[in-house]
Amino acid sequence: MAGRNFLFVPGPTNVPDRILRAMDRAMEDHRSSAFPALTAGLLRDLKNLFKTTTGQAFIFPATGTGGWEAALVNTLSPGDRVLAPRYGQFSHLWIDLAQRHGLRVDIIDVEWGEGAPVERIEEILSADTGHEVKGVLIVHNETATGVTSDLAAVRRALDAARHPALLYVDGVSSIGAIDFRMDEWQVDLAITGSQKGLMLPPGLGVVCASPKALAAREQAKCPRVFFDFGDMIKANATGYFPYTPAIPLLYGLRESLDMLFEEGLDDVFARHRRLADGVRAAVRAWGLKLCARAPKWHSDTVSAILVPDGFNAADVIDVAFRRYNLALGAGLARVAGKLYRIGHLGDLNELMLLGAIAGAEMAMRDVGIKITLGAGVAAAAEHYRSTAAPLPPRVAVVPSPDVPQPPASGKGHSPRATVRA
Ligand code: PLP
Repeated sequence: MAGRNFLFVPGPTNVPDRILRAMDRAMEDHRSSAFPALTAGLLRDLKNLFKTTTGQAFIFPATGTGGWEAALVNTLSPGDRVLAPRYGQFSHLWIDLAQRHGLRVDIIDVEWGEGAPVERIEEILSADTGHEVKGVLIVHNETATGVTSDLAAVRRALDAARHPALLYVDGVSSIGAIDFRMDEWQVDLAITGSQKGLMLPPGLGVVCASPKALAAREQAKCPRVFFDFGDMIKANATGYFPYTPAIPLLYGLRESLDMLFEEGLDDVFARHRRLADGVRAAVRAWGLKLCARAPKWHSDTVSAILVPDGFNAADVIDVAFRRYNLALGAGLARVAGKLYRIGHLGDLNELMLLGAIAGAEMAMRDVGIKITLGAGVAAAAEHYRSTAAPLPPRVAVVPSPDVPQPPASGKGHSPRATVRA
């Protein structure tokens, strides 16, 4: 199919050309004397991304799932109790992983479309006077439902209960796109993957651990080999890895972090918020609803859009892909067929999103959903126009003495002009 594929799943996200070029390089010796400079810079700058000065970053050749596992096995023992609300497929899968490692998970089932139930968490932790619960597992942004939880409120719940449990946060679809503050919220283990806000291909699982989490390693008895923080700490201290790192991805990560810091993290978050607001305006204009049940849950990285009863969202996704070369995210598990997702994270701008919104509305019309063609595009476009930053003054245009000027025609044409640097 001619033209570019429109990749609008909530990860993997579009990889900017700058990152592609940074990764396009010959392999090199990862034990050379030059390698530590790369490692040290990445581990230092990841801390800025996670907003921690006291935490320690780990880069595994893995994915977000590997990050989940690394966080748990380095800090807990089989039989330990952890508390985990479940409000979507990713919180479900993390719970499953914890259970398969022999952890006892107290599950708080929450309606899909809502986020972390902070009052309930506080209640349960307050009742746990013996401090049996060793950890609280929170998915910051539930990618399956497009719901973002309030991590500051979760922290307040732990503090109000005066509970020492470690706070584990899955930031796979938030970190690098939605505000995340590891130190301020006293997150003990924060996890992300390379293929979302970091705009890289899949293949890295990144974990940041607080000093309290690192101390918990001493007692933690879960078996660990590949994901052992201890081996990483030893090797990273000299700028190396305990096994072959994903070299091209590390160069991509260097470029990704540079891009995020050049734009400025606050501006990156604001861009995601503004782009997401445009998508939400489109959904309203279509007369459809998000899976997220209230604005406080709205995710700035993914919108999960419910199709009307009697329609199958999988048909919308299929038509969008096969007819318009647009990849939309599927509904997962219990919301399969009920919704489709537009991922709006990573390397994106207004016009890219308008393309996705146009494709989504064409595909919805094609399968018979009664929406007005152009309604979503118009609503989003209006949002983007009305919230656009004021333009800086245009660079003055002055005629160049080097370029011969055409004779004045007297017909109102302006003379040819060149911008002079
Ligand atoms: N957590 C969240 C919130 C996710 O969105 C995903 C994947 O989409 C994962 C965890 C699992 O990550 P991975 O597929 O990289 O293992």
